[in-house]
Amino acid sequence: MTKTALYDVIVIGGGHAGCEAAAAAARMGASTLLLTHKIETIGEMSCNPAIGGVGKGHLVREIDALDGLMGRVADCAGIQFRLLNRRKGPAVRGPRAQADRRLYREAMQAEILNMPNLSVLAAPVDDLVVENGRVVGVVTAGGDQFSAAATVLTTGTFLDGLIHLGTERTPAGRFGEAPAKKLSERLYGLDLTMGRMKTGTPARLDGRTINYDVCEPQPGDVPVQPFSFLNTDITVPQIPCHITTTTEATQAIIAENIKKSPVYSGQIDGVGPRYCPALEDKVARFPQRQRHQVFLEPEGLDDHTVYPNGISTSLPRDIQDAFLKTIPGLEDVTVIRYGYAIEYDYVDPRELDMTLQVKKLPGLYLAGQINGTTGYEEAAGQGLIAGLNAALSAGGTAEPFVLDRADAYIGVMIDDLVTRGVQEPYRMFTSRAEYRLTLRADNADQRLTPKGLAVGCVGGRRKAVFEDKMHRLDGARAFAQAHDMTPNEAQKHGMKINADGVRRNIIDLLGHPGVEWAQMVALWPEMAAWSPEIREQIETDAQYAGYLDRQKADIAAFRRDENLRLPADFDYLTLEGMSSEVRQKLDKARPATLGQAARLDGMTPAALTLLLHYARKNLPEETPA
Ligand code: FAD
Repeated sequence: MTKTALYDVIVIGGGHAGCEAAAAAARMGASTLLLTHKIETIGEMSCNPAIGGVGKGHLVREIDALDGLMGRVADCAGIQFRLLNRRKGPAVRGPRAQADRRLYREAMQAEILNMPNLSVLAAPVDDLVVENGRVVGVVTAGGDQFSAAATVLTTGTFLDGLIHLGTERTPAGRFGEAPAKKLSERLYGLDLTMGRMKTGTPARLDGRTINYDVCEPQPGDVPVQPFSFLNTDITVPQIPCHITTTTEATQAIIAENIKKSPVYSGQIDGVGPRYCPALEDKVARFPQRQRHQVFLEPEGLDDHTVYPNGISTSLPRDIQDAFLKTIPGLEDVTVIRYGYAIEYDYVDPRELDMTLQVKKLPGLYLAGQINGTTGYEEAAGQGLIAGLNAALSAGGTAEPFVLDRADAYIGVMIDDLVTRGVQEPYRMFTSRAEYRLTLRADNADQRLTPKGLAVGCVGGRRKAVFEDKMHRLDGARAFAQAHDMTPNEAQKHGMKINADGVRRNIIDLLGHPGVEWAQMVALWPEMAAWSPEIREQIETDAQYAGYLDRQKADIAAFRRDENLRLPADFDYLTLEGMSSEVRQKLDKARPATLGQAARLDGMTPAALTLLLHYARKNLPEETPA
């Protein structure tokens, strides 16, 4: 065995989690090694060529606010940008971009391959080196050993991956790529709780054989709003997508052949994503619905491949050919590659703490699909947190970097994963966040960039851009609060305000339905000079003013419980006055805080009161988290 260099942090896997983990560790100054199967597939989008969406777009903005890569890379590759839920409130608006698959990969590789402190090597990892109960390095398939203080594992769908297409089964991590079998065996051997999940992808179509005349065009936004807080414009050419639908004939073919799908023949055991179901699942679950939307999404500017979003399937090839031809616009379509399903191992994320470190194996962090999530953005958000914490622990910093449910969607996701585990592939939705009026995509930088600056993962350029924005925003907020008028004066200017004698400042006035920005500018012409970004923030402040105050009180109550830490070695099994089921649950989960204990499935208010009592009695003082 060849002994080679020592690193601070090793990251295994060059997917969405791995790239963010490696980049975050390197930004923190840790000497970092990224080991992945192939350099050419770094940043590969395994499935749909798109970044963002409702909930997922929030994650991208948060990653960007911490100087992560995904937002900037998506801005270099986006060929159609849309802000989803535009007609709803700012809290649930989700930025999304259709991406040119090649441009995305190239932009990600440019970032990774040119990053200071980061070395990249194409080598599959087969084994982990464990010494005294700690992971201290990895061994590649070629037998080279690399040592590191911390290792981040981000193997996606590769752990014992198995592709299903009809009755055919092919071991693979994704189409055309070898699975990680030995590493999967090693993880089982380390006594980690693991399981199987599955996901699927649709056929890829030749766009030159699609009749777009019968499809509905779907244009992107004008003007385009970039993902990254660093960018004000997008220079990539923008193109439309198209929409079609399945038909009764599609439904009939699938219903008739459903037993040929590996999911329905019993060939697949893994649990699939409920919110991104295969077409055969949609037909089985909603037999009365005759039409399902199909979004025809181009995979690139110089690529005629089209991704038909919404019809993922693992039915045999001849059935895929048959049902595709029943979809308007696809009557003469040529298939470039058939859809398939993939089954893979995941690790129960309840094995992890909030830094994504494996509780029983210090030195090992897990991020991405390996933790039972699905989606690029979920993977990237976890990668960033794992990479940051790996670098902190390698550098000997005792205080980890943790985001809680009131800080960020990333915090909501990680808390959900490590506290509740997953019963199906986990994807982000705005409904998962309790404090979503506070956790908006538009204010991710205000929430997180100061935290990133404090921990040291934010570079000079972002610091300068952020400080300039905050200078302008603080100025605008101060102006808006300092300028006011009485209801009588407001009424004279055509605003319908209650004549209660209470003076209203600009924020109060804008919060009234029917009061327009233009009316404010007519009264205070200085406001005309504010950029669209600053105007949007002031309008959102006004729209949410009362609600945000109430949410602040809710967050303060939440943080009171989060600040009551439970010691890692707390003896739950001998606690009196609790059912043995609850005691065992607490013993297994080892919650870090009282708040986390409260969110465990099956916790009762009585058990929590007892826990609070015991925790207070046994702790010298309440230690702030
Ligand atoms: P990946 O992007 O899979 O990256 C894993 C990386 O690890 C790769 O670079 C690989 O080469 C490397 N690697 C693996 N093992 C080793 C090893 N032993 N040594 C070195 N390197 C290793 N998501 C959705 O949201 N919706 C969907 O409908 C959907 N469908 C999908 C369909 C298919 C067929 C596939 C394959 C994925 C699908 N996904 C879907 C999932 C999406 O691709 C993942 O969520 C996302 O890519 C996860 O990112 P990751 O970084 O965890 O892993």
